Amino acid sequence: MTQKDYYEILGVPRNAQEAEIKKAYRQLALQFHPDRNPGNKEAEEKFKEASEAYEVLRDPEKRDLYDRYGHEGLRGTGFSGFAGFEDIFSTFSDIFEDFFGFGTGRRRAAGPKKGADFRYDLTIPFMDAALGKEIEIEIERLEYCSICRGSGIQPGTKKEECPACHGTGQVTHSQGFFTLRTTCSRCRGQGFFIPHPCKECRGTGRIKKPKKIPIKIPAGVDTGSRLKVSGEGGEGERGARPGDLYVVLHVEPHPFFERHGDDILCQIPISFTQAALGAEIEVPSLNASKKLSIPPGTQSGQVFTLRGQGIPHLDGFGKGDQHIQLTVKVPTKLSKRQKELLKEFASLEEKEG
Ligand SMILES: [Zn+2]
Ligand SMILES: [Zn+2]
Repeated sequence: MTQKDYYEILGVPRNAQEAEIKKAYRQLALQFHPDRNPGNKEAEEKFKEASEAYEVLRDPEKRDLYDRYGHEGLRGTGFSGFAGFEDIFSTFSDIFEDFFGFGTGRRRAAGPKKGADFRYDLTIPFMDAALGKEIEIEIERLEYCSICRGSGIQPGTKKEECPACHGTGQVTHSQGFFTLRTTCSRCRGQGFFIPHPCKECRGTGRIKKPKKIPIKIPAGVDTGSRLKVSGEGGEGERGARPGDLYVVLHVEPHPFFERHGDDILCQIPISFTQAALGAEIEVPSLNASKKLSIPPGTQSGQVFTLRGQGIPHLDGFGKGDQHIQLTVKVPTKLSKRQKELLKEFASLEEKEG
């Protein structure tokens, strides 16, 4: 494995989208392809490096690990770079065919393909993101219809030969000297039709089945955080392992707390006497309410901090802080007595400053 930075190898920014990464790899692979650079060791090295970088950055899980922990992070994934060209071609077989057209991509003896990865967007309340939660999501999966075993034919009935093309899927038209063969429009080239489609799946052979999946949301996630659920993606080809499900989180705003990274900010109104004389007030926090001492002479807009009362750091220990901004409220309704006292206060203010 190379120790160089994967983003640098591909020449893409760290926030590059999948398409940009693919494009960058495509260019490098074309440039350094061994068929174009026979015997060139340097090109060979560059080709391998680029392939390794692409293998990591195209995979959401590996990319995530690499972003957080660098090359070290990939140790646990069993990924150890590529053994040789054949390894590269077989891993990216679809891409090489796609890149070069047929011929230069080299044919591979690839095994059955792993199922597709799925994405599920999930919106969660602010507090669930801050404190973590175990929930259940329901996804819809396409499964083979068990009634017709995927054929789409109602059990006890049969498919029938298409009368328009007599089962060949093609029809011929004579036009003068010419004979034209076209795809049979009645059976769309299949050569048969299904007079009695399966009632369960309406002839599609597949059926949507809801499936409940438990999800553990760790404390500290934010909008854009991705949770991987292994094996809940699409079915694999011929016994290959299924794809994975990626749950992409969206966190709702909170009416009271505002999030800045792992710190939270809130605004608390206090009376002007509390501000002038000092006070001990109750402040709502993520877990329970906390006491905050306000010193005498506190100004409106002043910010106080409760250390460690913010959101837990997702990839480490500790928590952010809670910042409290105080706003001093001026009373709008005064009783007769309050007015008298304030007037007296005002006259003293003039004398004593
Ligand atoms: Zn069916
Ligand atoms: Zn037909």
